Amino acid sequence: MAVTEQIVVGGAVFDGGRLLAARRSAPPELAGRWELPGGKVEPGETGAQALERELREELGVRTRAVRRLPGAWRLDRPGYVLHVWTAELLSGTPRPLLDHDELRWLAPGRYEDVDWLDADRPAVALLAELNGA
Ligand code: C5P
Repeated sequence: MAVTEQIVVGGAVFDGGRLLAARRSAPPELAGRWELPGGKVEPGETGAQALERELREELGVRTRAVRRLPGAWRLDRPGYVLHVWTAELLSGTPRPLLDHDELRWLAPGRYEDVDWLDADRPAVALLAELNGA
């Protein structure tokens, strides 16, 4: 049997220099931690399509995945890898509809203010570096 990795995509949505962070409400072991909103790539989807679908389902917004950050980060779950994309907000205002109980826009220089999931931490550091934030 071929062993393939499960890719999880996270979206870096910006408003000016502010970065959107989402606080997980489930599962219990992750509740209260913050993430770049997103989720698993389903069979037959590209990473960009998966991200756009997840952001629609989770936040009620239409977005366009713009570009993938270089790098891939292992999750605590075996075989799971996080890819991060910047995403442009096309329409709607993000609301925590599904997996989150709070959203926060982090100002430049304050990206580290929340307790990010482990896999997201290096991606957020890279975003800060790329944005000079
Ligand atoms: O959201 P979903 O449950 O589909 O995410 C699958 C896994 O990816 C979860 O274990 C979640 O914690 C993890 N994840 C992550 N960082 C993100 C998005 C999801 O570590 N930005």
